[in-house]
Amino acid sequence: MTIKDTLKRPLRDLRISVMDQCNLRCTYCMPKEVFGADYAFLPSEKLLTFDEIEDLVRIFSSLGVKKIRITGGEPLLRKELPQLIERIISIQGIEDVALTTNGILLGHYAKQLKEAGLKRINVSLDSLNSTTYGQMNGRKFPVERVLKSIEQAAAAGLHIKINMVVQRGVNDGDILPLAKYCFEKGYTLRFIEFMDVGNTNSWNLEKVVPSREILNTLQEMFPLEPINPKYIGEVAKRYRYKNTDKEVGFISSITESFCSTCNRARISADGKLYTCLFATEGTDLVGKIRDEALANKELTDFISELWNKREDRYSDQRVELSKQPSKQKIEMSYIGG
Ligand code: SAM
Ligand code: SF4
Ligand code: SF4
Repeated sequence: MTIKDTLKRPLRDLRISVMDQCNLRCTYCMPKEVFGADYAFLPSEKLLTFDEIEDLVRIFSSLGVKKIRITGGEPLLRKELPQLIERIISIQGIEDVALTTNGILLGHYAKQLKEAGLKRINVSLDSLNSTTYGQMNGRKFPVERVLKSIEQAAAAGLHIKINMVVQRGVNDGDILPLAKYCFEKGYTLRFIEFMDVGNTNSWNLEKVVPSREILNTLQEMFPLEPINPKYIGEVAKRYRYKNTDKEVGFISSITESFCSTCNRARISADGKLYTCLFATEGTDLVGKIRDEALANKELTDFISELWNKREDRYSDQRVELSKQPSKQKIEMSYIGG
């Protein structure tokens, strides 16, 4: 079944946050000054259970979702995550399951994840320089340990993509070293423009390095050619290193918005549905399961109606919306990337 929103966008991709806590404090996501020792994270009984997640994935699959991304906070902090992945992979209609992680616990879980049937992971890595990486992750966590984890994941047979959030004056000097590292290792690198998600990361336009600028920097060292999108709604614009089968991607939420083909929904760790990364409000699904004991058919109809009414296109409207009195946006660590 295909459901469409008011802009005729289908629902194909579901991102599920399994945990709002994280073992890092990246400055652009969970600045340590805000997410300190007294920050109120969700109590464990509020988190969706694996049974609830499985039920929801079945429902979303019946509405046309084919791709699931497990995210957080840090998803590998969620106990027995490989079991959840195995359960999701076995759901009919789900064609692709991916995991986004900061890589800290990846070495430990790599084999189990592979055995659970996972094929690919995205690891966030913003610099190879230990000082820069330590500053950006807010915990002085050494980059060498993440690099080792990535090697272990690759050795376990997982396909690896590296996500790099680029900030001007912070890690823009790391573009070429990371590109070289990924090229040599055979990992796909994706440059992500620093986004104005949440309310706490001191975002401003001057800190954004536009993808076009990154591409120009990259081309000084590596000749590149554009690749056609694999499907409508692909988030990254992809390029191939000429005369190779290796590629690199750009996620340009700020300078080249892709709302017109956005087919993604997100579920927070406490079971709220968000139809845009920049949303200010979500719709409680877990309450419908736990308190109202809604039957699957009723919940399916409810989600379908919600998607039919969807109008979100924040990135298209960023400039106008930023002039209006602002409501609190949800935080990236709560809803996942
Ligand atoms: N903890 C995991 C990780 O870091 O990979 C998963 C959750 S994290 C919120 C998902 C992705 O969002 C990461 O790749 C991270 O770099 C990205 N991200 C977080 N804040 C961002 C921001 N302000 N702009 C762009 N990307 C951001
Ligand atoms: Fe944690 Fe990921 Fe956010 Fe960094 S980007 S603070 S690792 S959730
Ligand atoms: Fe989708 Fe919202 Fe991002 Fe636009 S701003 S691409 S609607 S998540």
